[in-house]
Amino acid sequence: MDVGSCNGCEIEIAAAFGPVYDAERYGARMVASPRHADVALVTGPVTRNMAEPLRRTLAAMAERCLVVAVGGCTLNNGEFAGGYGVESTVGDVVPVDLGVRGCPPRPEEIVDAPRTVTGH
Ligand code: SF4
Repeated sequence: MDVGSCNGCEIEIAAAFGPVYDAERYGARMVASPRHADVALVTGPVTRNMAEPLRRTLAAMAERCLVVAVGGCTLNNGEFAGGYGVESTVGDVVPVDLGVRGCPPRPEEIVDAPRTVTGH
């Protein structure tokens, strides 16, 4: 879920699940609905408009879902810290189980995150 990113992290996530880095071979698969997901990948600083949708998305997921915060913005708001549209970090809105640092993180680091939680 993009809650306010510059889309740089999304490009790297797309690469991580593409044919070169192929995160699916480790058992992680993208799904279209939060109701089908066990893990939420979240990117960006939480903007004012996206704080409540982020809460609702997590509420739509299974009770024991995990949250992986991808990119420096999710952890400390990065380049957007102090911006008028920024509400808070991801961890201030929902519990974060794993953070992936970097601006943006490399695809290898993004692939490692699902591997950490799938155990493969
Ligand atoms: S961490 Fe960097 S690439 Fe990712 S959303 Fe923030 S500014 Fe963009």
